[in-house]
Amino acid sequence: MYLCDFHTHTLVSHDSESPLPVMIAAAQKAGVQELCVTDHCDLLDGDGVPTCHFPWQQAKEQHHTYGLHAPLPVRLGLELGSIPYNPQGTREILAQAGDELDFVLGSLHNWIGAQGNRDFYFTRFGGNPTLCREAMENALTHTYTMVTQCGDCYDALAHIIYPLRYVQRDGESLTLEPFQEQVMEIFRQVAASGHALEVNTCRGRSLDEWLPILRWFKACGGEYVTIGSDAHVPEHMALGLTQALELLEIAGFSYVTTYQGRRPVPHKI
Ligand SMILES: [Zn+2]
Ligand SMILES: [Zn+2]
Repeated sequence: MYLCDFHTHTLVSHDSESPLPVMIAAAQKAGVQELCVTDHCDLLDGDGVPTCHFPWQQAKEQHHTYGLHAPLPVRLGLELGSIPYNPQGTREILAQAGDELDFVLGSLHNWIGAQGNRDFYFTRFGGNPTLCREAMENALTHTYTMVTQCGDCYDALAHIIYPLRYVQRDGESLTLEPFQEQVMEIFRQVAASGHALEVNTCRGRSLDEWLPILRWFKACGGEYVTIGSDAHVPEHMALGLTQALELLEIAGFSYVTTYQGRRPVPHKI
């Protein structure tokens, strides 16, 4: 099995305090063969305030000091949040990266055009199934915009089930099933444009729910799948990734994909 973790955070992210060498040591201990650091760069912060900045100097310094001298390959990535809110700002940030950037996750953490553009994390979904559906619809609408209009801004479509994390936290039950048509429309675009889908295990907590989603992606012609634990602390490094690889195989994928220089590199599972 090719164990790679392509969604991890360090202290460059606002919500992590983990130094890169500590995350690299955790990756090595977990048997990770290739690691990618994808620190947060959001076009909207958690409160819905527009932002447009990434500390490239800090990110590159730690990459040069620790990443390039690690006992395993460490890639320089980025998790870009809310790309469709500000595609021009996104492109400026990407241009500042130069040619060192290996991988970009395109993600959506926020409502856009509703609920004050805040992170879905702050929404209270309990007892409100209508709001749960609205959250998923809002996220899928803007994901569609991202994959159709901002293909140059991302490599892998990150955690498409993100709003469901908080729907389920608040005791409501919702899956992507009712949104299958909309999701497959997105997947056809992702596949046709040669982009990847990310299986995000959310520190080992999201696993089985990915199987039907992977099958849809396969049916849409999807070829590239990346996997990531979304670890913000060393204890969460690579959690659930072995199981994620098994799910890929069950869904009919023979390869897991990593990225180098923003180009996909398939590895036999
Ligand atoms: Zn995320
Ligand atoms: Zn993340």
